Amino acid sequence: MIQPIKTFEEAVAFHGHSCPGLALGYRAAQYAMDALRAGRSDDEELVCIVENDACGVDAIQVVAGCSVGKGNLILRDLGKHAYTFIDRRYNRAIRLVQRPEPVVERIDPRASELRPKVMGGTATPEEIREFHTRQEDVIARIRSMPIDELFLIKEIAPDIPEKARIFRSVQCASCGEMVAEHRARVKDGKFVCIPCAGEYGRGWQ
Ligand SMILES: [Zn+2]
Ligand SMILES: [Zn+2]
Repeated sequence: MIQPIKTFEEAVAFHGHSCPGLALGYRAAQYAMDALRAGRSDDEELVCIVENDACGVDAIQVVAGCSVGKGNLILRDLGKHAYTFIDRRYNRAIRLVQRPEPVVERIDPRASELRPKVMGGTATPEEIREFHTRQEDVIARIRSMPIDELFLIKEIAPDIPEKARIFRSVQCASCGEMVAEHRARVKDGKFVCIPCAGEYGRGWQ
């Protein structure tokens, strides 16, 4: 069922603050929703692959209705401001990649000059005020600029990820906690979880 696109204010409420990154993610998702005529994803018909874990991803979750829990938000952290939206129903995919020229610097060089000082805690109170005023203007511009001044957009052949599957769980022979079969390891002939297997990893892969 097609539902109206969530507002930017709703994305701000979810993310916790308004920022240029959130506005960029909002524009990307809004564009993809219109282009694919997908509406918000209640189920898994729309899949989004995000290539970073920054602010913009939160807007995408709100607008596109894609989430990690539903299995239709795939985080492939390649450190790129790139978003691929796949509509399973019509076998279509669209990829938006942020333009190489830095957005904030292009809109307001002074705001981008102030940013490191404000973030680094070396800005004066006036500079902080100036930064916030300018930041608001930058966000407003991002929200109203033509989409192709923000993103390079391509319709691509969809590489449709498999639907989220439900896996059986097994009990780790070492810590006793249950672990999904596809994440379990075998150690000395017994099922163990990844931490108990002593395998190198960063805890989430
Ligand atoms: Zn943010
Ligand atoms: Zn274990």
